[in-house]
Amino acid sequence: MEIREEAKDAEKKSLNFIEQKVVEDLAAGKNDGRLQTRFPPEPNGYLHIGHAKAICLDFGLAAKYGGVCNLRFDDTNPTKEDAEYVEAIKEDIQWLGFKWGNEYYASDYFPQLFDFALRLIREGKAYVDEQPSELIAAQKGTPTKAGTESPYRNRPVEESLALFQQMAEGKVEEGRMVLRAKIDMANSNMHFRDPIIYRVLKTPHHRTGNRWQVYPMYDFAHGQSDFFEGVTHSWCTLEFVVHRPLYDYFIDELKEGKDLDDHRPRQTEFNKLNLNYTLLSKRNLLVLVKEGVVSGWDDPRMPTLCGFRRRGYTPDSIRKFVDKIGYTTYDALNDFALLESSVREDLNATATRVSAVLHPIRLTLTNYPEGQVETMQVVNNPEDETAGTHPIRFSRHLWIEAEDFMEDAPKKYFRMTPGQEVRLKNAYIVKCTGCRKDADGKVTEVFAEYDPETRSGLPGADRKVKGTIHWLSQEHCLRAEVRLYDRLWKDENPRDELARLQEELQCTPIEAMRRMLNPQSLEIRPDCYVEEFLSDAQPLAHFQFQRIGYFCVDKDSRPGHLVFNRTATLKDSWAKVASK
Ligand code: ATP
Ligand code: MG
Repeated sequence: MEIREEAKDAEKKSLNFIEQKVVEDLAAGKNDGRLQTRFPPEPNGYLHIGHAKAICLDFGLAAKYGGVCNLRFDDTNPTKEDAEYVEAIKEDIQWLGFKWGNEYYASDYFPQLFDFALRLIREGKAYVDEQPSELIAAQKGTPTKAGTESPYRNRPVEESLALFQQMAEGKVEEGRMVLRAKIDMANSNMHFRDPIIYRVLKTPHHRTGNRWQVYPMYDFAHGQSDFFEGVTHSWCTLEFVVHRPLYDYFIDELKEGKDLDDHRPRQTEFNKLNLNYTLLSKRNLLVLVKEGVVSGWDDPRMPTLCGFRRRGYTPDSIRKFVDKIGYTTYDALNDFALLESSVREDLNATATRVSAVLHPIRLTLTNYPEGQVETMQVVNNPEDETAGTHPIRFSRHLWIEAEDFMEDAPKKYFRMTPGQEVRLKNAYIVKCTGCRKDADGKVTEVFAEYDPETRSGLPGADRKVKGTIHWLSQEHCLRAEVRLYDRLWKDENPRDELARLQEELQCTPIEAMRRMLNPQSLEIRPDCYVEEFLSDAQPLAHFQFQRIGYFCVDKDSRPGHLVFNRTATLKDSWAKVASK
């Protein structure tokens, strides 16, 4: 009995603080034993890797404990939102491997929220303020100094009711009036100082069109939506800690004194995902897209889920990464190298090994018969015996990597250099005999002689040489474009650097961003070669280019014009740079 309790304790300790609370609530029979969560994106951009952290929690725990996670679009600001984003968000959640219960929209609650606002006005708990928003902001006070009450704060209920109706009917210009909750201008929590709860917006809404001219603010929609839906656990990021009392306040008002006790959503906050050399936040990413800094939301340098997908990241690698970093209540800056090691681990186990030459130089085997062709078998994945093999053709005229030849090589150079033997992977041992150079002294062709007794896999072929290099047969390979990506930002913490620069230069976000961009974030190599085996590889297919890295087929790829994206190098290039 004692042992079981201890085991339970140990298990509890390994759970993060949010999961622990779920386990406790379920054990205590709270919410009638129900677990209902939601993932509440605003459809104002594409999801990024930070959202994956929230998604894994909202969907992951609901699935693990027999609950349900609904997808709710927090679509309360028509000026920023669009149906394109709704569709993209759904696609990305499914790609990550999660399923929602119901699909909800905060805009479905506009009628209820409007009625709730009317009720608050009638009860003297809300009023229409006719001051400009800058003045309202200036009257908020500071955390240690009480705010100033609006001259409209105590206007008659009927006046506010009539004006709010006019706002709703489109008779009031944007910015001319707002509805404010009447709470406490001296409250130590600034969010209680008569927060704005409704504003006038004339932009048509992507779902409700011109039906509404007034829209609820986040704090007047989010908690209420949770409540209407019967959410039990409402998880969000740390910046909402200070909003939580207001979240609870409006739910208390909504339930109208009914003793719902534990039958109400409870908000708990966790730390945001923040990656080094990466700028998140849809607002910033939208600037990059609009200004043409990147080719679109799915540019493989973008930290969006569709960007990572196009870059060759797998859903599994992202989920495992999120699992590794965990959930706490402290802000952190996570290491991109950890994310990269996750994708490497995943692709190492699954990606087919092929040969590709990114900086081609000719290699001629002078004693190999002209016109002879041999077919070698390549092991698809040494990590997976069931993956089988595929053929590759060999001949007298080959491509090798320029960097695999050196005329005057240092002692420890084990690749091609005159007089030295090297193995051509899956083929023969060859001995370099020299090279040809052009008028500028640039090497244009390397010569070698092969040893027919050393074909890989034949008895006696295991003669040891120090180096092995890859190759392609010139007549039996395909031309390909290869896109090599590096980090988009020079700064380790672009979020803070962006804020600092904007403050220092008093400039727009894009002006600051342009100073922070890594000019070498994309290198396009149009003249590469790959195995003919890749002739009909489909977009998103993953491969390991032996000795080079992990690559995937880009969506721009066509038969006759293959395009590959580098997902990651074979080894960690990030950690090295970071420690420089
Ligand atoms: P952004 O500023 O990037 O637009 P957001 O918080 O405004 O982010 P929402 O669409 O409102 O984006 O967020 C949906 C959910 O994702 C919220 O619960 C939010 O807390 C969570 N989320 C957003 N960014 C991160 C992040 N970097 N790490 C973890 N969770 C995040
Ligand atoms: Mg937002």
